[in-house]
Amino acid sequence: MSSPATLDKLVALCKRRGFVFPSAEIYGGLNGVYDFGPMGVLLKENIRAAWRRSMNSLKYEVLYLEGALLGPHAMWQASGHVENFHDPMVDCLNCKKRYRADDIDLEKPCPHCGKKEWTEVKQFNMMFKTELGASSASSTIAYLRPETAQAIFVNFKNIISTCRVKIPFGIGQVGKAFRNEITPKQFLFRMREFEQMELEFFCKPENADEFFKYWLTVRQEFYSKLGINMDRIRMRPHEAHELAHYSKQCTDVEYEYPFGWKELEGIAHRGSFDLDQHMKYSGKDLSVYDDETKEAFVPNVIECSVGADRLFLTVLFDAYQEDTIDGEERIVLNLSPAMAPIKAAFLPLTKKLNEPVIALHKKIAQATGFSIVFDDSGSIGKRYRRQDEIGTPVCFTYDFDSEQDNKVTVRDRTTTKQERIPIDNIERYLRDLVTKE
Ligand SMILES: [Zn+2]
Repeated sequence: MSSPATLDKLVALCKRRGFVFPSAEIYGGLNGVYDFGPMGVLLKENIRAAWRRSMNSLKYEVLYLEGALLGPHAMWQASGHVENFHDPMVDCLNCKKRYRADDIDLEKPCPHCGKKEWTEVKQFNMMFKTELGASSASSTIAYLRPETAQAIFVNFKNIISTCRVKIPFGIGQVGKAFRNEITPKQFLFRMREFEQMELEFFCKPENADEFFKYWLTVRQEFYSKLGINMDRIRMRPHEAHELAHYSKQCTDVEYEYPFGWKELEGIAHRGSFDLDQHMKYSGKDLSVYDDETKEAFVPNVIECSVGADRLFLTVLFDAYQEDTIDGEERIVLNLSPAMAPIKAAFLPLTKKLNEPVIALHKKIAQATGFSIVFDDSGSIGKRYRRQDEIGTPVCFTYDFDSEQDNKVTVRDRTTTKQERIPIDNIERYLRDLVTKE
């Protein structure tokens, strides 16, 4: 029987199996910051690759940018972040605990100490501010980027003039962003250092509404193809009062987490706001020339912005299951083979059989380039459980019969069903498994 994951169970699994560790844990960790372990790195790479694949398989061209993490004051002023990227903050005078003012009821006492002694609500800018240069006199204010998108807007002209690309087209970027959250929470859901996968799609203003709808469909299909349970995905259009002043339309892709329906991705029709702002503040012309009408225009932008870490968390929640196999309880991650950090494990039934299995593992690893493992420690049941918990789709077990019939037993992670296949077929078996979507 399936049992839903809780945040605590998932945090424990991530730690136990090397997906995610609290950052600098031996020094007590850093609040809202995490380090990704060996399994986490592999899963994250698979997530990025799936996002890129989905962008590359469309009929419109998508180019990529890797912008700097540090940005000048002027850029973040133009984007509106210096002035507007605030959260309301309030402190408890008694216990000094700090809250987001919209997270708590200021009519009630402090949930931490029970006293009701609030400071005034203050606006807190969430950007990490720093100074460039050694001497304070010559120092210049810079910010760690709170989103990847602005690097795309300020490079729009560079890309269009160097890559000879025509509107409509997209510019995508995967990279870190930093927000000084007052209260980071829910593990990877709200972090101070996180990773975004953003697409800015540039089109003619008259086609923008149509493209907004197009991207709603495309992004929904992405989650379906990823193998996410679509009963836990919904598209939630923003109400008029939720829209930022520049945003014409916005729809969130929401996932039903154990802590409720929350935003996984935002899809927004941003009009020409961003390019207009950068033209105004930089004095540079960012319009494009239309060969048909012989007139210059400022493109409109449809933005699709998903948190890579949020998707990481979503994929894990969605795959997490507990069941009972032969009277023994187990945890299993039913990840799709494309998402699984490890594609297969090679297990000798006993250590006496290590030699041929080590050779086989090496041969398959070299031939396929897949991340596969060899494991000879502990009972075979224990080794299966270990692979189940990290979502490895199949285990190949080599036993004493293998020496005679040249076959191994393949065990399926989800069904635990076993079958024997010829050793010569392993490579093709694995390739078929990993490439199917
Ligand atoms: Zn308090």
